[in-house]
Amino acid sequence: MKGVGYTLALMVELQGMERLDDVIVVLVETSHPGNIGASARAMKTMGLRRLRLVAPKRFPSAEATERAAGADDILYDAEVVGTLDEALAGTAWAVATSARERHLDWPMMEPHACAEALLARAGESAGPLALVFGRERSGLTNEELDRCQSLVCIPTAPNYRSLNLAAAVQLLSYELRKAVLDTAVVPPVTGRPLATPVELEGLYTHLEQALEAIGYFDPARPRLLMRRLRRLFARAALERSELNILRGILAAAEGRADHGDPIRADDPPSSG
Ligand code: SAH
Repeated sequence: MKGVGYTLALMVELQGMERLDDVIVVLVETSHPGNIGASARAMKTMGLRRLRLVAPKRFPSAEATERAAGADDILYDAEVVGTLDEALAGTAWAVATSARERHLDWPMMEPHACAEALLARAGESAGPLALVFGRERSGLTNEELDRCQSLVCIPTAPNYRSLNLAAAVQLLSYELRKAVLDTAVVPPVTGRPLATPVELEGLYTHLEQALEAIGYFDPARPRLLMRRLRRLFARAALERSELNILRGILAAAEGRADHGDPIRADDPPSSG
């Protein structure tokens, strides 16, 4: 009996581990190579393997290898890219991490909820998922946050919010591992594909154009409109078919702006 239980536990673990392989840890412009090494170590202890480095100040580096201890295989396999956009290329979902309260209330998740959401998406196999960490001094810019679909903040003492980068990597990796081990908490997947970041960017560009065409958005005075709309759609976790409906509505609104034609809802948008 013990053997069966053990085998089951191992199967659950292996299944979960596959999902952890879908998670890519992205470190943006890390200054201290020691933090890169310590992050690799933090990841490996929790079963995460994929690391992408956006324009690290110094890498590879003896200090990173030293701090990685036995996790230098993760450093060896790490992909180094020039921009966050490159790091997110091909990903199905990106979660930004932040120590700070932002100007605008982004859909903010707690680490546990974040881990569950990431694993649920990993189960959909739509592509790898990114967990994005910022610079030691300044974190992530608002523009970088805009590239991500959700935000996670580790709750801290209110008067001292900022963890060391590798400590933040450790904590969120731990939450992911815990969520894998407790597979029952992973919400069921709907089976309907969610919109990818590339499709969402297409929607935002289209939305901006359409809002300008109908006279609602003035690019000379953009204010925070587009950021607020991004936040709204990020919160909705749009499915691809829903995104296509929105694009159809925008196309219809643009058509009316150009020709004064009525908007028709009976013409379903194509799925392209
Ligand atoms: N002064 C920076 C702190 C950067 S700490 C700021 O205000 O954003 C370096 C990175 O560690 C952050 O960009 C984030 O990725 C992670 N981090 C630190 N503390 C965190 C917290 N409380 N919650 C989530 N991520 C955190």
